[in-house]
Amino acid sequence: MSSNTKIYLSSPHMGGAELKFINQAFDTNWIAPLGPNVNGFEEDLKRFLGGENEVTALNSGTSAIHVALQLLGVSNGDEVLCQSFTFSASANPIVYQGARPVFIDSELDTWNMSPELLEIAIKDRIAKYKKPKAIVAVHIYGIPFKANEINAIAKKYEIPVVEDSAEAFGSTYFDKACGTLSDVGVLSFNGNKIITTSGGGALVVKNLKLKNKAVFLATQARDNAPHYEHSSIGFNYRLSNVLAGIGRGQMEVIEDRVASRRNNYNFYKSNLSKYKSIQFLEEPEGVFSNRWMTCINTESYEMRESIRLNLQDNEIESRPLWKPMHLQAVFKDCLAFTDGTSERLFNNGLCLPSGSNLTPEDLQRVLSVILKTQNQ
Ligand SMILES: *Cc1c(COP(=O)(O)O)cnc(C)c1O
Repeated sequence: MSSNTKIYLSSPHMGGAELKFINQAFDTNWIAPLGPNVNGFEEDLKRFLGGENEVTALNSGTSAIHVALQLLGVSNGDEVLCQSFTFSASANPIVYQGARPVFIDSELDTWNMSPELLEIAIKDRIAKYKKPKAIVAVHIYGIPFKANEINAIAKKYEIPVVEDSAEAFGSTYFDKACGTLSDVGVLSFNGNKIITTSGGGALVVKNLKLKNKAVFLATQARDNAPHYEHSSIGFNYRLSNVLAGIGRGQMEVIEDRVASRRNNYNFYKSNLSKYKSIQFLEEPEGVFSNRWMTCINTESYEMRESIRLNLQDNEIESRPLWKPMHLQAVFKDCLAFTDGTSERLFNNGLCLPSGSNLTPEDLQRVLSVILKTQNQ
């Protein structure tokens, strides 16, 4: 019996073709942050996203957010409105640019940025300081934010939106791919994401001119000259051709990965929904979620901890939901527009093992531990 092998939250799951592409990189000596795999991976991503956007492969999702903010002109002294209920990588690049994050709480329908609080924050900042330079909204755990509402508010005040789709590759919103819903989209291929290049990310923009600017910034901002000539500050952010080979292999199985993660969600939900104290986040109207993570919202901190600790005792990894950025020590001096929603999610909620490589036995093992905590 495999009852002592550890079950992880979300581990890499190779498809099979990755090594073929990596070998091609070796055989042709394209061991560089450019090459045929980078181009091929970008084409795969572009096609998957619907073909209307330009994609730049970068070395992380964090780099992609950083380049996005530069494309939007975010700089010293600016304020950027950012979803509070997220991973710190959504907010850190705001600080890299010398700007200040202003955090916005979530709403219960999607656990993402509340359109109401967003508009209250915009009005407040215009009245008391100046118009925020950008909005960073996040599709947390693979559930899209209310893009129609958020985009409409952004348009009304003419503030561009960065769409942090790091957790939502494969999700759609009214049939449009997450990553293409707002002004600039961000993807991540970190080891825990739905597909991985071990580390990597991508920036999604609306036209070739913006893509060229992104590539320029991400390759040390080299001006057009035979020698090294620079008129702006650049970054070393491009994806390696070796790692892009992993990405090409992963793109062959993305549909399967989405199906497996959705299957995990359906398994947990069908077996646990009879317990009123355990709530799941349903797909809102018009949404197809990649179900990157299956999350539960319990009725109390104590109940969440009892499930988490019992899983831990059984070698099963789980994790509390994101600790909101406005509660993090590093952002304690930042402004925040909150109503307690993300704080309650953090206190009571838990991410369950959600990898696409979980076996039916693994899922059953997780379930039986959770059921034991319910019957105590
Ligand atoms: C993973 C993640 C990122 C950062 O991506 P990396 O590729 O790890 O740099 C950004 N935002 C969210 C919401 C994420 O989950």
